[in-house]
Amino acid sequence: LGMRYLVTGGAGFVGSHVVLALLDQGHEVCVLDNLSTGHRAAVPEGVTFHHVDLIDYQATKNVVSQGRWDAVLHFAAISLVGDSMQAPFHYLRQNYLTGLNIVQACSEAGVRKFGFSSTAALFGGPERPDPIGETAEIQPGSPYGESKFLIERILQWADSAYGLKSACLRYFNAAGSDVAGRAGEDHRPETHLVPLAIDAALGRRPALKIFGTDYPTRDGSCIRDYVHVADVAEAHICALEQIETRSVAYNIGNGRGYSNFEIIQSVERVSGCKVPWKAAPRRQGDPAVLIADSTTIQRETGWAPKFEKLDQIVESAFRWRKAHPNGYGD
Ligand code: UDP
Repeated sequence: LGMRYLVTGGAGFVGSHVVLALLDQGHEVCVLDNLSTGHRAAVPEGVTFHHVDLIDYQATKNVVSQGRWDAVLHFAAISLVGDSMQAPFHYLRQNYLTGLNIVQACSEAGVRKFGFSSTAALFGGPERPDPIGETAEIQPGSPYGESKFLIERILQWADSAYGLKSACLRYFNAAGSDVAGRAGEDHRPETHLVPLAIDAALGRRPALKIFGTDYPTRDGSCIRDYVHVADVAEAHICALEQIETRSVAYNIGNGRGYSNFEIIQSVERVSGCKVPWKAAPRRQGDPAVLIADSTTIQRETGWAPKFEKLDQIVESAFRWRKAHPNGYGD
């Protein structure tokens, strides 16, 4: 115990929750973030913060070679599926080059373990199994998904050439927030369903648009697998313990799918308010159904989601957003 971790993107949604989980276990944590989408206020007191852009290889190398890291975790990325369809080269270039820089810097500094925030967007092909396990065909449905897959490939070469062991966690829909209320979800602009539905319930936004009501699903809206961000954080910690001698890739979800209309119903139960909504056209790049088969990480590491119930996930998100009308501030 008492290990040292460097977390890129530690000022962002998932990264900041991983930082809390590591601190809770008594580890020392440093955060590297360019604050393009993250928030300085999301980095807790006592955590060293490096305001660095991973596109700058020399600056990245300086931070990585400053410490003897037991592991480096990489969350920093641009991450909007819809945007990536409009700006494919920007997404591919940005995520690939920043990923290449951090992986190369870690390899050359002799880092042994690397945790990577990958995505269910790897599985965007027309024929997806349900649920989706690690053996499902990888066919990214968007440039965003492709950019994450490219980093998984870089990590395979870092393992063969440098012995850098990695854990790629392909999470499905990370949602919710720290149950102690220390962190939350604050994207600018917000594009994710759960926070948008909560804001609509609180009367902070006009009607929620439901992108596509004619999908071949039980109620016509898309189905996603929502996993509590604290469970995602735990999964990273469990996976890092697994990679002494080999690299792994795990799918992370609850194994249950909820439709966009079922999210609205959950927000209504939790908030006691109606969620005004209106039908809108499908969003490009959205598969109809994404549900994870997470049995591999469960079997190999003992990880299991602690917050399985949708209303628990939504409730933690609701509490933080209600208490923080301006999120992390301006
Ligand atoms: N969605 C929606 N309206 C919104 C935002 C999202 O209908 O304003 C839908 C989106 O099309 C998808 C689901 O909600 O079917 C989850 O989208 P989100 O962006 O939260 O996560 P993603 O699945 O893209 O990672």
